[in-house]
Amino acid sequence: MNIHEYQSKQVLKSFGVNVPNGIPAFTVEEAVEAAKKLDSKVTVVKAQIHAGGRGKAGGVKIAKSLDEVKEYATELLGKVLVTHQTGPEGKKVGRLLIEEGSNIAKEYYLSFVNDRNTAKIVMIGSEEGGMEIEKVAAENPEKIIKEYIDISVGLLPFQATRMAYKMNFKPEVIRKATATMMKLYEAFIGKDCSQVEINPLVVTAEDDVICLDAKLNFDDSGLFRHPDIVELRDKTEEDPKELWAAEEGLNYVNLGGDVACMVNGAGLAMATVDILKYYGGNPANFLDVGGSSTPEKIATAFEIMLDGGQAKGIFVNIFGGINRCDVIAEGIQKAAQIIAEKTGSDGIPVPVVVRLEGTKVEEGRKILTDNPVKNVIMAPTMEGGAEKIVALVKEAEKNA
Ligand code: ADP
Ligand code: MG
Repeated sequence: MNIHEYQSKQVLKSFGVNVPNGIPAFTVEEAVEAAKKLDSKVTVVKAQIHAGGRGKAGGVKIAKSLDEVKEYATELLGKVLVTHQTGPEGKKVGRLLIEEGSNIAKEYYLSFVNDRNTAKIVMIGSEEGGMEIEKVAAENPEKIIKEYIDISVGLLPFQATRMAYKMNFKPEVIRKATATMMKLYEAFIGKDCSQVEINPLVVTAEDDVICLDAKLNFDDSGLFRHPDIVELRDKTEEDPKELWAAEEGLNYVNLGGDVACMVNGAGLAMATVDILKYYGGNPANFLDVGGSSTPEKIATAFEIMLDGGQAKGIFVNIFGGINRCDVIAEGIQKAAQIIAEKTGSDGIPVPVVVRLEGTKVEEGRKILTDNPVKNVIMAPTMEGGAEKIVALVKEAEKNA
């Protein structure tokens, strides 16, 4: 789960991390009120969206007067910001952070993420922080410094010191920098984060070390321990299909393409996405219907995949174990029926290729051959099925 910058800063502040004074605002009036309250020489108006790259996209404005705060707040609220992280469709700005301007002397980069290869947390630092960090990583990888943290002992002070020296902090601020690292690590562990990214971490002209931007991601599996974090969820930032699927207890991730797939088991679901890609398809989603499906759940999965006209074809790839192929087959029939009723049409509007194997496979196939469902065809193998659905979707695109 992601949260906004202003929320991330509130969480970090509760761990004693230094962040600028700031107040969130949902309207232009609130923005001006906030700026009055902050009463700083320079006020920064920052668009709050779940994506970085706002600075370059015009989402971070420096205001020198209340009039300018008003002007920028009016411009940003409701605007669709397109950054290199949002995709071409962009994200609509619904909230602002009104923040005290910092007197930046130098911008650094600091982050913590899980490293799967070493099963450790890696702290990543660079003295070339700010809006060009991706370029630094690509062109000057030696400027990116890593420190691996064993979670059974935590971040040791000597590691933080080593990082601070390698990042070339000047002697006057080394202690402040290492203290910031230790607190950020505490926050990472304390809140079950999967990422804490500070870009930029700045040293000011007054030799303060401040987190000027903050991006916290949380491990969804740990959220039950953090009701305070769950409360920060901004559903308007999340994919409506993913929210719908989550409510129905389906493991669904929208991948943006047009060949949908419905699979049981996460491993098979990933393999299915791969094989669709192999045959030149553009997977619409990852969907693991799990081990305890009912016809109703299958029908809902179809509705989610078809919603908004996203799926141009569906590949059902089931290896029945705890899941039974006859239940899946009934689910497909039910889906056709529900969709027909809801849309006043004659069933599922796109081609569906079904590959069934495993528990009750004969029964499942029989259900679909005895009472054929419009647009549904059977495939004997996973490879054949994947190839077939990709071909059908391409053909439909050509004819469209
Ligand atoms: P993003 O990463 O989405 O571009 P940032 O919060 O990092 O957004 O802001 C972009 C840049 O704007 C920063 O690198 C910094 O130079 C400047 N900036 C952000 N917040 C402040 C602030 N409070 N005071 C002064 N400059 C700021
Ligand atoms: Mg940033």
